[in-house]
Amino acid sequence: MEKILNYINGELIEPSSKIYIENIDPSCGKAYSLVPDSCADDVNEAVKSAKVAYSFWSKTTKQERSDILNKLADAIEENFDMLVAAESRDNGKPLSLAAKVDIPRASANLRFFAGAILHDSSDVHEMDGEAINYTLRVPIGVAACISPWNLPLYLLTWKIAPALATGNTVVAKPSEITPMTAYLLSKICKEINFPKGVLNIIHGRGEKLGDALTTHQDVPIVSFTGGSDTGKHISKVTAPYFKKLSLELGGKNPNIIFDDCDFDKAVSTASRAAFTNQGQICLCGSRVFVQNKIYEKFKSALVDKAKKLIVGDPKNSKSHLGAVVSEEHMNKILLKINEAKKLGGILLCGGERLILEGELKNGYYIKPTVFENLPYDCSINNEEIFGPVVTLIPFESEDDVIMMANSSEFGLSASIFTKDISRGHRVAAKIDSGVIWINTWLLRDLRIPFGGMKNSGVGREGGFNSLKFFTEPKNICVKI
Ligand code: NDP
Repeated sequence: MEKILNYINGELIEPSSKIYIENIDPSCGKAYSLVPDSCADDVNEAVKSAKVAYSFWSKTTKQERSDILNKLADAIEENFDMLVAAESRDNGKPLSLAAKVDIPRASANLRFFAGAILHDSSDVHEMDGEAINYTLRVPIGVAACISPWNLPLYLLTWKIAPALATGNTVVAKPSEITPMTAYLLSKICKEINFPKGVLNIIHGRGEKLGDALTTHQDVPIVSFTGGSDTGKHISKVTAPYFKKLSLELGGKNPNIIFDDCDFDKAVSTASRAAFTNQGQICLCGSRVFVQNKIYEKFKSALVDKAKKLIVGDPKNSKSHLGAVVSEEHMNKILLKINEAKKLGGILLCGGERLILEGELKNGYYIKPTVFENLPYDCSINNEEIFGPVVTLIPFESEDDVIMMANSSEFGLSASIFTKDISRGHRVAAKIDSGVIWINTWLLRDLRIPFGGMKNSGVGREGGFNSLKFFTEPKNICVKI
């Protein structure tokens, strides 16, 4: 079986313990590679290498850093098919989705920040002829970039690109559940002679090596995307060290369908928002609020659509959904489905594991699942399930739906469907979410502030927000 290796100081190396964990292909439930079970010693080596590299990388010009990031983006594009196949196999997502979203976004992230760093500007505050303040933005040091398994290379590059563009060096920690494309990226870095030590990638279990990385005295900056409980833990352990911390966490996002919406568009977008990537996107719309007048019609159209979605071999271009990421995650989703039934939820479709034939019979497939009759404030409508499971909730008035949508402890994203654009603006202004779409979902502009309110996170990523996060402002006041 192929051994994945850590990437430290430009070299691919074994974990110091020589211990590995099996990496499972979720489409068939079989181990197909081995992931290093790294520990604090490996983290220390990676941080040491990043600290040494910082002394030269932080002094490179913006143009030099931009050129190197673009070179890495070129190399990702040259290895497109290999990366698409690897992401699909490692995560269970359809090959078509990895080809359309994950891998194009990985190179786009690098290109975006390679460009952004050249077009950034700094503030000047003039004091009525007495003095001028100008604010430099300087890199900080070694950044820990910790990313989850749902969009592995996409979210890893979303963090490392701005960190590196601004002159920091990086120790990245991908999820141990989906390490393959990060490993392939490190092989690509080696092939293109990416400067040694600037990017380091450590594989292993977060619970074992996480604290060593996030609390390391030579890591002043931590950028994390993952679950809210892990975010809470990282917040707690890093607090005494006054690190710069960015947390992109979970969501339980409302899709609000008013009765004057473009019906067909609202149904197909709600279905996409519910089931893309097997419902494993932090932005998935898992609470679908539908205005009473069209509730029954919308319900039958959405259920009809969900029943027609093909769950199958991720490699088959006809599959709309592949496997969920792991057996443990599948069981967690199935438990939540049972809990929904016990709470009185009426199952409209799905609600069970799908057993495929042949080689794929042990894969982790779940049918697209729609519930109704669950109170807006029950556990199922408040906890993130992160699978292909949505609930339909009827509403009468704008005030009702705003109250219910905001009742969640999360506040990441929301979508509103209406032809009355004044109503769209009015409702959007009252929804407690960091990212709101009107008549669409997941339309991403990389310049916008991206992130959540409440338990969905702290801080914003994207565009100049990321450049600001990865730098310290330094104000200089000049007396005239
Ligand atoms: P986790 O929180 O379990 O893990 C995220 C990353 O943190 C993984 O690399 C994990 O490693 C690592 N980790 C775990 N424990 C620690 C620790 N103590 N210290 C440091 N790192 C640690 O999330 P999942 O991977 O399960 O991802 C799903 C979650 O991510 C969902 O809640 C989803 O909503 C959220 N998410 C949020 C997004 C946003 O932008 N707001 C975008 C995408 C996902 P390992 O896997 O090896 O344990």
